[in-house]
Amino acid sequence: MRENDATAPPREALVDASAIEHNVRVLREITGTPECIAVVKANGYGHGALTAARAALAGGATRLGVADVREALALREAGITAPVIAWLHAPDVDFTEAVRSGVEIGLSSLEQVRAAADAGARTSRRADVHLKLETGLGRNGAHRSEWHDLFAAAAAEEAEGHLRVIGIFSHLSGTSRADDLAQAEAFHDGIALAERHGLDGRLRHIAATAAAIDIPEARLDAVRVGIGIYGVSPLADRTPSDLGLRPAMTVRSRVAAVRRVAAGHGASYGYRYRAPRETTYALVPLGYADGMPRQASNAGPVAIRGERFRVAGTIAMDQFVVDVGDLPVEVGDEVLVFGDPSHGAPLAEEWAEAAGTIGYEIVTRIGPRVERTVVGDQRDGPARERRA
Ligand SMILES: *Cc1c(COP(=O)(O)O)cnc(C)c1O
Repeated sequence: MRENDATAPPREALVDASAIEHNVRVLREITGTPECIAVVKANGYGHGALTAARAALAGGATRLGVADVREALALREAGITAPVIAWLHAPDVDFTEAVRSGVEIGLSSLEQVRAAADAGARTSRRADVHLKLETGLGRNGAHRSEWHDLFAAAAAEEAEGHLRVIGIFSHLSGTSRADDLAQAEAFHDGIALAERHGLDGRLRHIAATAAAIDIPEARLDAVRVGIGIYGVSPLADRTPSDLGLRPAMTVRSRVAAVRRVAAGHGASYGYRYRAPRETTYALVPLGYADGMPRQASNAGPVAIRGERFRVAGTIAMDQFVVDVGDLPVEVGDEVLVFGDPSHGAPLAEEWAEAAGTIGYEIVTRIGPRVERTVVGDQRDGPARERRA
């Protein structure tokens, strides 16, 4: 890690593609499922969708998952040819472009089965679909009372050559092992019913990262792993390294100003922090516009010169203050906000804890002002590559 490097950007997210690759390999080993769907929605959880997609495929992912068709099409336009599935659609969705681009679609209703079949008929290229069953989460997916009609319609459209049912899936709440197993049981009822409609031997997938790790019964034919591939733990009681995972994103900054202050001096809006004694305030040019949660005021951890500090006072839009005591901190010093603890950085999970949220939200919300730098990507030649 650089210190006092005048060429380093003031706000930077280093994305380690080799960590994503490693994490996929680890998750594949843990789960042993025939297929592994790497979830790269929301710009690869903030890491860059294309970077994440390439690294995940290099690590052994067999498919990619995103929320909506536009995200899938962006991957296609960038040259990703691997299977991609998109599962969340607008009410008036038109699947023509998805089918034309070979994007697989998750279908949650009879209307969506019709829309996919229409798109298949129009393009004379069968729509590749996964049928989504609602088994308790209360989000999308066909409700149990609709399964019969859904399977009947899908089987009929498949016979017509308009679509092909590649998979059947659901999504777990992660409330407890018992709740997840109850959903898995409901899912098996759905699978059995699908088989009675001739839809057997399809890819069954229900587990995201947490269940992929903790609930072997939910692994089935494929797991859909998102957060784990980025090296962030979905489990409150285990860190990434407990799981053999490496955090892929390091957010860092450089000290923009230092100021010696007297005891009692306030820090930032509302003086929610006052220096307990004469001390040094270091200013870090990262704020809530960059994804630093304001809820982590007076709490978020950083590392400067190998020492740990907490945010002093309110996190503002563009900046926050750190009370570094008597440490001889200088303008330009590197500030590690979160990343891989083996490099001395706090974990994204610690920021999550400080803000009362989850690691997912911390990495996903890193803003556009933070320059992404991809490292550890050997396939493009130079080990270090800059993508804004
Ligand atoms: C986001 C998402 C995933 C990935 O979940 P993680 O907890 O990040 O592994 C899997 N499946 C669906 C349907 C999702 O929306």
